[in-house]
Amino acid sequence: MSYEKELTSADVKAKAKECGADIVGIAPMSRWEGTDKQHDPRYIFPGAKSMIVFGFRIPRGSLRGVEEGTHYLNYATMGYAALNSIYGPMVLWEMNRFMEDHGYEAVPMANVGGGEAVNPLTGNFRKGWSRPVRPGLPAPDVSVDFRVAAFLAGLGEFGYSRAFLTPEFGPRQRFAIMLTDAELEPDPIYAGKICDRCMECVKNCHGNAISPTETVKAVIGGVEVAWAKRDEMACSKAFREGGLNRELSPFDGNYPRKYGYGLAHEGSCGCIRACMVHLEERRKLTHGFREPFRQPGWKQWEVDHSKPYELPPEIREAYAGNIESQDAYTNYNIKSNYGTKAAAGLVQDNSSSGGVA
Ligand code: SF4
Ligand code: SF4
Repeated sequence: MSYEKELTSADVKAKAKECGADIVGIAPMSRWEGTDKQHDPRYIFPGAKSMIVFGFRIPRGSLRGVEEGTHYLNYATMGYAALNSIYGPMVLWEMNRFMEDHGYEAVPMANVGGGEAVNPLTGNFRKGWSRPVRPGLPAPDVSVDFRVAAFLAGLGEFGYSRAFLTPEFGPRQRFAIMLTDAELEPDPIYAGKICDRCMECVKNCHGNAISPTETVKAVIGGVEVAWAKRDEMACSKAFREGGLNRELSPFDGNYPRKYGYGLAHEGSCGCIRACMVHLEERRKLTHGFREPFRQPGWKQWEVDHSKPYELPPEIREAYAGNIESQDAYTNYNIKSNYGTKAAAGLVQDNSSSGGVA
């Protein structure tokens, strides 16, 4: 333990990379000036002087199965939930120990939603959910926009789609944040230009969620930025269900128990995949690949759902009476004793991979 040694930005960044962060940026907390209370992290840690933002690359290969239409678990887990809920927190914990061992308090913030008081899609506070503990404070939970944090920490820019683009990976990363009372030298706000308004994100968005014409302007950290007007509800529905007409989902009907981790059938077809392909082709990113993501002549396949739904009778029978409820995203919730039935061999998968469907 060494309270004598004051940490520098270089120390923090070197440690973060050692712990597994791909990119790291640092902002003074003052860059949040002008943010409304409900989204201002200075209310979470009033003594914080700096914010450290860590970026973790989404493996390009985690998008491969969705791209080919043959494997959907990988993006939802390795490219999404596990990065936000497992890998990011692991790095945060290690960094937290490092900061505390040097006498600094640090608030580790994983990108796991804003709590029930904040609508995860709109970012709006749900009125009536909680109340400020003192006059002048926001109501809990304050919800921090991780893309805004990344922008303030100089990691990149907002693309037209509002996906965050970095010079290293384009749209292919997720973020975690640390607020600390360490006074660290900040990075400048990114002044480069990655997004060239090619509109590939718009053309390939299967939720029609990114407006081709209407934009939203904002001032963040004193810099004016703009992105497309977005329909977050349309995005959420299309992303989970595989497009507006489920044209990108090979799954039939409301096939139960698809994933424990949630659905990602559309696989960010526009705002991540098409954008990534475009930026890689234009050689705009520092992290390129030996082979292109798509071969020449590539064309997006679509699934024809007009054919009848063919759930085998034995599966239908096995699930009968075990479906407790259905949520807003067409997932079935299976009764808790379903597992016992499955273990007893009463539910068989008709595939050769051995998993329960
Ligand atoms: S696809 Fe093109 S317009 Fe859309 S965010 Fe990426 S670079 Fe910008
Ligand atoms: S995730 Fe899919 S539906 Fe949502 S904005 Fe991106 S491309 Fe469109």
